[in-house]
Amino acid sequence: MLLRIRLALASPDGLRRLVDFISSQALRFLPAAWRKVIFAGHEYDCNICESQLRGFLTLHRPYNHWCPICWSLQRHRLVWIFFQRRLFPFYGSRNHVKMSHDAPEPALEAKFRRLPWLDYLSVDLYNSRAMLQMDICNIQFPDEQFDLIYCSHVLEHVKDDLQALREFYRVLKTGGQAVILAPITSPRTISDPSVADPLERERLFGQHDHVRHYGRDFIQRVEQAGFRVKVIRRAELAGDEEAKRFGLELEETIFLCEKLADSHDLLNHKS
Ligand SMILES: [Zn+2]
Repeated sequence: MLLRIRLALASPDGLRRLVDFISSQALRFLPAAWRKVIFAGHEYDCNICESQLRGFLTLHRPYNHWCPICWSLQRHRLVWIFFQRRLFPFYGSRNHVKMSHDAPEPALEAKFRRLPWLDYLSVDLYNSRAMLQMDICNIQFPDEQFDLIYCSHVLEHVKDDLQALREFYRVLKTGGQAVILAPITSPRTISDPSVADPLERERLFGQHDHVRHYGRDFIQRVEQAGFRVKVIRRAELAGDEEAKRFGLELEETIFLCEKLADSHDLLNHKS
């Protein structure tokens, strides 16, 4: 908490950030039922907690649209549409799908845990609320364990992201899929994991715990691990009207990364 206050005070828009920080802490202190009454409306919907809202909250960053009830961000609501409309129908005929959710977002974790056909595991290196504490650069599972991996806005925090991607590829079953989201904030990837000072990281990479900016070459980084990558944009999942209603205006890309039998053979052949 002290670090957040220090970062806010050191930034050019420090006063706004400090007010946002105090507001969000105060709101989180209120029970969800109270927040539902305070923010009730008809103009907007959260498709995760299914609340009808008079608006989303813009806190911390001007582009953020937080749900005041479940604290989902636009990327969480978009990826939930993707899971519901594209991936779950794909898995619909199976009654056992093994999934790893890395650095789990609480609102989405609750949704996944309610699905009876999903053999769900949440993983985080630091957060003791996750089902398993584990480093995604050194995954403690044998090869070919998971049907599905979901990892959103994590790799930009990881010093050796290429190792994490290789580990994802290793533990996915052939035919499995990794749903990966990462912020693309630069024309090409700029990385310096040696920078440890939070203020310097914020200056260089836009956030105190980021170690790189990803660029359009992010796809090639994922392909290096062996995946075939499909890019899915918001417009493929939700039209303009729905995007406005669910607070999805910010452009966000979903990378659907597939472990194919032929790419597996190709990698084995290379090694
Ligand atoms: Zn919500």
